[in-house]
Amino acid sequence: MLPDGKAYALLARPQNKSAFKPLPVVIIGNGPSGICLSYLLSGYIPYFKRDSLHPHPILQKKLEEARDISILDQSIEGSMVTLSRGEWMGLPDLPFKDWLKQKKRGLRNNRATAEDIAQYYQHYVVKKGLQKNFRCSTVVTSVRKVSADSISNHTQEDQQENSDDSVWNFKEKSTEVFQVDGFFKTMKGDKEPFSIYAENVVLATGTYDSPTWLGVKGENLSYVHHQLSALEEAVKNDSIGIMSDPVLIVGAGLTAADAILFAHHCNIPVIHVFRRKVSDPGLIFNQLPKMMYPEYHKVHQMMKEQSAACAGPYECYVSFPEHHVLSFGKDKKCIFQDKNGHQKVYKISMALVLTGSNPNLSFLPNNGIDLAMNNSQPVNPKRNPINVDPFTYESTQEKGLYALGPLVGDNFVRFVQGGALAVASSLLKKANKNPP
Ligand SMILES: Cc1cc2nc3c(=O)[nH]c(=O)nc-3n(C[C@H](O)[C@H](O)[C@H](O)COP(=O)(O)OP(=O)(O)OC[C@H]3O[C@@H](n4cnc5c(N)ncnc54)[C@H](O)[C@@H]3O)c2cc1C
Repeated sequence: MLPDGKAYALLARPQNKSAFKPLPVVIIGNGPSGICLSYLLSGYIPYFKRDSLHPHPILQKKLEEARDISILDQSIEGSMVTLSRGEWMGLPDLPFKDWLKQKKRGLRNNRATAEDIAQYYQHYVVKKGLQKNFRCSTVVTSVRKVSADSISNHTQEDQQENSDDSVWNFKEKSTEVFQVDGFFKTMKGDKEPFSIYAENVVLATGTYDSPTWLGVKGENLSYVHHQLSALEEAVKNDSIGIMSDPVLIVGAGLTAADAILFAHHCNIPVIHVFRRKVSDPGLIFNQLPKMMYPEYHKVHQMMKEQSAACAGPYECYVSFPEHHVLSFGKDKKCIFQDKNGHQKVYKISMALVLTGSNPNLSFLPNNGIDLAMNNSQPVNPKRNPINVDPFTYESTQEKGLYALGPLVGDNFVRFVQGGALAVASSLLKKANKNPP
């Protein structure tokens, strides 16, 4: 990636409560997808690096042939989601390992901690001079298409004023624009509303905002939680400890495994309930290399060897494979049932339902369902992502609306860059002006 030293002013930086001029693009979300697209739209232009090797030989040949053309200006069929770097959690032009070295920290089993990753992303935004593009503590509550006529008087004046120095000279005048509403959270905790207009909107909001609920009786009771942080908090406050009733952990993904490891570390007794068999190939533990993930391998071993049916070597833990929760009682008694219909009742201290999460697209009409592959079902990163053109990442349903990251099924950070590249390339083509 080569910076051209010039930053294009293009992201939402509303100074007033309401601004009538449509911005070329508003990105919603501040995770790796939003950061990476912000980087590409800020004048950093990606070229194929001499001596780099792409795993796909045909793509390698094409990239070598067009070395002098920016990747933003190339149309390489099928390459968009596979142009990833070796550093899996890294963003363009700042290898994660180099940053770690600078910080005099190392990787454990080639893996980074969540805290390191969070710090690296914050550092990245500062290092690449992208802070001006971000509006922190801002929540978008509504995105709607509105007629451009209703705002055209203001728009035309503003556009004429700025037409000389803008890279964004959209040739065709849009008949519709997006109205983006929301609020800023002030230091005092007040909410200040804002309303802006945009020609294009990019959804980079991820899929972790709404933890999945089981939908069983008593799930809204105060001792039932849906985030791992609740357990950390309870341990910190001493409201749970070695002598407490067991913690119920529901789910068999990596977040559930993290909760088990945390509880195990604190000697807190755990009851672990999950629907699948321990040998189910769909279970994440059966897909992870043991050498690289020894702690998750350990959890998998506990799940196998320490079930309610057969006691094993691990203390303070018991697994219930092929079980599901029926209800949570006010007396902290939880009922669950096995595949044959046999029920069990356990008194617990708290429950953690860690069975995945869903995007919160409540700011879109019909919760964004109309944008999904199957538009009769809610958007889901694994089963029902947003339907986008694979070369532009523009919604097939709504012109001018783009989506990135897990929302479109790119569930790993290393795939996010390909999507961001596709969106940046499409927006620049729309603007009909190549970057200098
Ligand atoms: C426990 C865990 C472990 C993971 N481990 C790995 C791993 O090892 N390797 C890997 O590649 N990936 C991993 N991932 C996946 C990785 O985190 C995602 O691929 C990545 O975060 C997606 O980036 P994103 O920018 O699209 O979304 P996110 O990172 O989710 O960022 C979206 C942001 O948008 C904000 N937002 C949402 N709605 C609004 C709104 N209405 N208004 C304003 N802001 C909003 C959200 O609060 C959030 O800050 C892991 C995920 C989890 C949960």
